[in-house]
Amino acid sequence: MTATLTERGTHRERRAHVAALHAELTRYGLVTWTSGNVSERVPGEDLFVIKGSGVSYDELSWEGVTVCDLDGGVVDGVRKPSSDTDAHAFVYRSMPEVGGQVHTHSPYATAWAARAEEIPCVLTAMADEFGGPIPVGPFALIGDDSIGQGIVATLRGSRSPAVLMRNHGVFTIGASARAAVKAAVMAEDVARTVHLSRQLGEPVPIAQEHVDALYARYQNVYGQ
Ligand SMILES: [Zn+2]
Repeated sequence: MTATLTERGTHRERRAHVAALHAELTRYGLVTWTSGNVSERVPGEDLFVIKGSGVSYDELSWEGVTVCDLDGGVVDGVRKPSSDTDAHAFVYRSMPEVGGQVHTHSPYATAWAARAEEIPCVLTAMADEFGGPIPVGPFALIGDDSIGQGIVATLRGSRSPAVLMRNHGVFTIGASARAAVKAAVMAEDVARTVHLSRQLGEPVPIAQEHVDALYARYQNVYGQ
């Protein structure tokens, strides 16, 4: 991507909203230093906004959020966009239903990713939110489309809005940035609980028909 890095101040409201959502990542302990990012699509404009690279969470305002086109090129902003921008762009191009994305290295979920082990659906909260296990995506190097391809290959057709990219971390999608943030918070929460459960024995799976019923009910009540 060629970053011209000029500020025109467009999409300021959406950038401020996305900047503010980053506070949820620190509140729930999902990120360290400047890692992690939130993005949101600009509906109808073939654009999205994403956290700038290396911007500290304490000084994140709308100006720390950059506007990009769907190829990841900078359209407006003074900060180079996140190094994960190509992955976000690939997902927005490939999945038109996705309105927001989050990436973190949240510790419990990333510990499952480091083992390339999906999180089994052993909690009703998981059935509600993820509709089954949280799947593992392939190993992918940063720098081209391969992370985005891995996310899309794993999540397309899956009920889960979260994928554990192998040896890396968590990527979540949602109808909005807020929905993707919720999925990232819930993914870490269930990763921790299932991990704790496993220390004491083997967690008991939930029967598929119960997973289906819980998911249908929850999505009906709380779904978009
Ligand atoms: Zn990462």
